[in-house]
Amino acid sequence: RIAYVNGRYVPHRDASVHVEDRGYQFADGVYEVCEVRAGRLIDARLHLDRLDRSLRELRIAPAMSRAALLTVLRETVRRNRVRDGLVYMQVTRGAARRDHAFPAAQTAPALVVTARAADPAQGARLAESGIAVITVPDTRWARVDIKSVSLLPNVLAKQQAKEAGAREAWFVDAAGNVTEGASTNAWIVTSAGALVTRPADSGILRGITRTVLMAVAASEGLRVEERAFSRAEALEAREAFISSASGIVLPVVRIDGQAVGDGKVGPVARRLRTRFHDFAEAGS
Ligand code: PLP
Repeated sequence: RIAYVNGRYVPHRDASVHVEDRGYQFADGVYEVCEVRAGRLIDARLHLDRLDRSLRELRIAPAMSRAALLTVLRETVRRNRVRDGLVYMQVTRGAARRDHAFPAAQTAPALVVTARAADPAQGARLAESGIAVITVPDTRWARVDIKSVSLLPNVLAKQQAKEAGAREAWFVDAAGNVTEGASTNAWIVTSAGALVTRPADSGILRGITRTVLMAVAASEGLRVEERAFSRAEALEAREAFISSASGIVLPVVRIDGQAVGDGKVGPVARRLRTRFHDFAEAGS
């Protein structure tokens, strides 16, 4: 495998950053994950828009122009011969002597890009079986709208899920409402057939898959309610599912060990998954 690290394509074993990179010391950086499908980047424009926003919110300078970054993404995908998989990019505030406050303005941000193949059959299997989720208290900071590499609560939640035999953890806020998954957005389908997902103005990352699914739902004639929903409401829902660039739509059939609906994969999640790529933008 080949990684792009600060201007060079290097073998994975040599792909390292400075010990005083601020991403390493302070998690002072942001990232994006973009799907690669049939060799093309899916919704790259939306992912790069969100990357720009994350950088702006943290006052980190872009590592390079958008056109140059797109070239690096494509080249990393090409060099790794990825047809179906993911491309990962991370920008940190760069390397500087350790000090919490920002380093000197001329400190160059650090950019790392990696790509790896994913087995489309594995996603298909999960979509057929459905997945289990557990719920955990949402202990994260208030700026989860920024796609920051500061992910310790997400790491701990995902590990807890894994140890419980589940694939994802849903964060629940102090009011008892589900915010989102550790690396996915959370959705339910009500008994009236409406899609419910939390508004993206607070408490969650505005998922690109989530945004595109809004258009899919509209074309399917499905009503979407952007509102908070509780763990209790989710347990009573007809269907539940998660969305992300890495899994697109995966049906949730168990929450904390209790069956959702009839405990089987539902038609709405199935339909949204099938139609997603008709609405996503496949770049060159
Ligand atoms: N929420 C969190 C916390 C995430 O980390 C992710 C993706 O990694 C998502 C939601 C889904 O976002 P997207 O659909 O852009 O992958």
